[in-house]
Amino acid sequence: MKIFDQLERRRAWEPEEQAILDAVRRVADEVIAPKAAGFDKSCEFPWATVEALNGLGLNGLFVPEAYGGSPMRYKLYLAVVKIISEACASTGIIYATNFHGMKPLIDFGSEEQKLRLLPRVAAGGLGSLAITELNAGSDATGMTTRFRPDGDHVVVDGGKTFITSGSTANLLLVFGKWSEIDDARGAISALIVEKDTPGFTAGRPEDKMGLRASATTPLSFDNARVPRGNLLGQPGDGLRILLASLNKSRPSIAAHALGIAIAAFKDMTAYMNTRRQSGRRIAEFQANQFLLADLASDLALCEAWLDHVADLIDGGATDFGVEASIAKLRASDLAMRMTTDAVQMHGGYGYIRDYRVERLMRDAKITQIWEGTNQVHRQLIGRSFVEK
Ligand SMILES: Cc1cc2nc3c(=O)[nH]c(=O)nc-3n(C[C@H](O)[C@H](O)[C@H](O)COP(=O)(O)OP(=O)(O)OC[C@H]3O[C@@H](n4cnc5c(N)ncnc54)[C@H](O)[C@@H]3O)c2cc1C
Repeated sequence: MKIFDQLERRRAWEPEEQAILDAVRRVADEVIAPKAAGFDKSCEFPWATVEALNGLGLNGLFVPEAYGGSPMRYKLYLAVVKIISEACASTGIIYATNFHGMKPLIDFGSEEQKLRLLPRVAAGGLGSLAITELNAGSDATGMTTRFRPDGDHVVVDGGKTFITSGSTANLLLVFGKWSEIDDARGAISALIVEKDTPGFTAGRPEDKMGLRASATTPLSFDNARVPRGNLLGQPGDGLRILLASLNKSRPSIAAHALGIAIAAFKDMTAYMNTRRQSGRRIAEFQANQFLLADLASDLALCEAWLDHVADLIDGGATDFGVEASIAKLRASDLAMRMTTDAVQMHGGYGYIRDYRVERLMRDAKITQIWEGTNQVHRQLIGRSFVEK
């Protein structure tokens, strides 16, 4: 693993960053990883692992100090997502979703909103991001959830589909259309909905292929009255907020996918170095070495690219959408290929639930679908080369 150790050394973490990474690694190895298979089997929401993360104050990594956090570089946040996801992809996405849902509040919220809501996030409150609807997936502008102003309140009607932490989050960032704006894109607005809002209900968690411990639920809003003070920005600011937020959550999805890919690579190489057939370890067959060479090369390149994207963001760049799409596309395609090949290298044992690679392959698939399917990301990247 020399190439990966060198990449890690090049990151040159500050001592306090390294201390956080060491603490996360310890909790990941000692608490999260040993519970992952059980949670996958029972489909229980993994409160024990979420509480272990909260014991380290990890939401504070992205919440400004004035609101109870102790923020660090985005690169460190991505490294944390990767370590947690390597141990348990469900826990990894629950943690990352706190960032995805609440970062727009940090970037676009008013001082009053931040003072009121962010200390709850810093203290370990769960966040959620609700965009997708039954008939509005890849094209989010087709959403029909309606925000109707009514005095000091906004009345929300409609529904959302497939929302991560929909039933467990304390604060949900919900996108909908402002009833008084007659424009499919220009009407999109963003509202923070608090868990116990009357008229808001989260449905039963979906029975999923992977990430089975993460609660993915439909949401329904029936005359739900949300204080107008929870509107982010102005009516109609939603699309701008949505696009800016996705650019920062997509590298985080890449980190989640790389965590899964790293777990599969470690299991695969360990198994290939012990399993013997025809008198040799299966890692000694040249065909299998070519497979390892391809996978290790792509893993190293994806890691290096994600470092590049993180450096852009930490450096204050604002135009990094295509770079973020490349990271999401390549990391998630790699996670799927890596986990599928890891199952293959385990032979029949890879198909048996006793081996972690079976779960990793199921967990990897969603990374190609959410936060923009990979078809959509290929379009975004390709379109960027068309001259205007
Ligand atoms: C486990 C899970 C968790 C999720 N968590 C969240 C969440 O927290 N918040 C949230 O808002 N959403 C969430 N989603 C929703 C997810 O982001 C969407 O499923 C995804 O964006 C795709 O939308 P869709 O399912 O409606 O598929 P569709 O958009 O209907 O796509 C179907 C197929 O058509 C293809 N396609 C669509 N449009 C085009 C096009 N223009 N060109 C080429 N091909 C195209 C797609 O690539 C795909 O292969 C989650 C989904 C799952 C399964």
